[in-house]
Amino acid sequence: MSSRPSFYITRLENWVDLPSSLGTLGAQILAGGTDLVPNLTWELASPTMLVDVMGISELREITIDAEGRWVIGAAVTLSDILHHPVLGAHYPMLVAAVHAVATPEIRAQATLGGNLCVDTRCRFRNQPPIWRSGLDPCFKSDGNRCYAAPKSRECVAILSSDTAPVLIALGAEVAVGGPELRWVEVEALYSGDGHDHLTLGPQEFVRAVRLPRVSPAGVFRKWRDRATMDFPEVDVAVAATLDEGVPRDIRIVVSAVGPAPVRISAAEVLLDSSPWTDAQLERASVMAREAVHPYDNGQLGVIGRQLAVRSLVLDALTALRAALMETGGEQNDLGGRDSREKGQPR
Ligand SMILES: Cc1cc2nc3c(=O)[nH]c(=O)nc-3n(C[C@H](O)[C@H](O)[C@H](O)COP(=O)(O)OP(=O)(O)OC[C@H]3O[C@@H](n4cnc5c(N)ncnc54)[C@H](O)[C@@H]3O)c2cc1C
Ligand code: SF4
Repeated sequence: MSSRPSFYITRLENWVDLPSSLGTLGAQILAGGTDLVPNLTWELASPTMLVDVMGISELREITIDAEGRWVIGAAVTLSDILHHPVLGAHYPMLVAAVHAVATPEIRAQATLGGNLCVDTRCRFRNQPPIWRSGLDPCFKSDGNRCYAAPKSRECVAILSSDTAPVLIALGAEVAVGGPELRWVEVEALYSGDGHDHLTLGPQEFVRAVRLPRVSPAGVFRKWRDRATMDFPEVDVAVAATLDEGVPRDIRIVVSAVGPAPVRISAAEVLLDSSPWTDAQLERASVMAREAVHPYDNGQLGVIGRQLAVRSLVLDALTALRAALMETGGEQNDLGGRDSREKGQPR
């Protein structure tokens, strides 16, 4: 017999009241509910109070700040982002990631804040209670073991937010509301522990996302079982800007392979200092595969996900090179052929 959790729901209309509501022991934000409600049904979350933020108008606005940067409120729905008349033209990679989330029905309800804060997933835990009752509790259920990574001392459940890697590649920031307001890079939102995967304090919440004034060129790729509905098995986002024909500020982000997105720093340095030949892009994709360590807690096995990382990074970088060349990159720095094959000095 299932013992469904019981809780109160409070609906706020002003974000100023949010920190004190969240200060109540066991309180949890309810945004679109597309992640949280299924988790409640499967007894994967046990809040004592749900704080519904969908009535807070400031969290539902898309605005431009005094410095010309787009600011998207945490409770803006993914559909609102997709249907915004102008945003998509400036940030096509963000729109591609939003479009890849779930289904149109879910996107109509799901929010950007909820997507960034979506709970981590694991095939050993995201199961009905009756299935889980055959296993001793793991770290994420306050037990003392991990079935996916038996040698690990912490939970390695997967972050499946499709927007997180893209916002990191774009260099976006989040406004963390609470007793004090602070802006942090999206990357800093994730702790790396799948059990407690956000760095938010007990009274803190994501208030908004701020995009850079000028978007770098970027490409997003997602690997999933079916072309719709499914959570990512691997996400890749790559971005760069052109500085007098030379790619700069290169960001290569791999996600859905662990509790936090991973920057592939070695590959970013490689491509910052050498022409983007086929051979260099291939090297960068191998570096990405070597930098990530997926566990057997998704649908695709470990080797499949490693291969997917390599293939998606190569594909994304190749598409990014083409996009940069279209916007004026010099053949010398973005050439598709290997300069060594042509006998050119580097
Ligand atoms: C069938 C199905 C398929 C899905 N496929 C995908 C997919 O492909 N990609 C993907 O990324 N997601 C997917 N999801 C998960 C989910 O729908 C999305 O991540 C969605 O964007 C979550 O947003 P929400 O507003 O519904 O969040 P909610 O369910 O309301 O909340 C999610 C979590 O975030 C917390 N939270 C919400 N807002 C805030 C805030 N402002 N500050 C701090 N914490 C907050 C909540 O407390 C909760 O823990 C899927 C879900 C389903 C049911
Ligand atoms: S990764 Fe390990 S600890 Fe985390 S939910 Fe899965 S089995 Fe549990």
